[in-house]
Amino acid sequence: MAPNIRERTYIMVKPDGVDRGLIGEIAARFEKRGFKLIAAKLVSPTKQHLEKHYEDLCDKPFFPGMIGYMLSGPVFAMVWEGLDAVKTGRVMLGATNPLQSGPGTIRGDYALAVGRNICHGSDSVENAEKEIALWFPEGLVQYSRSNEAKVYEI
Ligand code: GDP
Ligand code: MG
Repeated sequence: MAPNIRERTYIMVKPDGVDRGLIGEIAARFEKRGFKLIAAKLVSPTKQHLEKHYEDLCDKPFFPGMIGYMLSGPVFAMVWEGLDAVKTGRVMLGATNPLQSGPGTIRGDYALAVGRNICHGSDSVENAEKEIALWFPEGLVQYSRSNEAKVYEI
């Protein structure tokens, strides 16, 4: 089977990352790696929207505090497309707890606390599809890139 160079992942700079001026740094890492940006916006989500995004964690003791943190400012929502985008995106982010994230990862380079870990990335292709539909109901941007044969063996 041909490799899927159209896999998509939802990547979000959280309010602490926006406040600390890390939007460009985080986006640049995905851009330079070779992924294709197919949607992006700065947005102030509602509490209900964030509770839906994090619905799998609603029973966790940190849930109310985490939602409060996510409501503390706008987030920068992005969809990146490319080979193994979900798994590679998670590797680029680093572990959930930044203290366990290796240097060279986004969290490993810019964060220290699990409750202030500056970025989100989908953890499975199925969840990526759900998150993209939740954050970008208006749809994604369609365009072709001239560099695709330089990024992939096509
Ligand atoms: P992720 O997929 O790596 O973002 O991690 P999870 O989906 O498990 O958790 C979602 C977010 O909840 C994390 O990115 C953290 O911001 C937060 N979180 C997870 N575990 C903890 C925790 O033990 N304490 C606190 N304060 N926040 C947590
Ligand atoms: Mg998660």
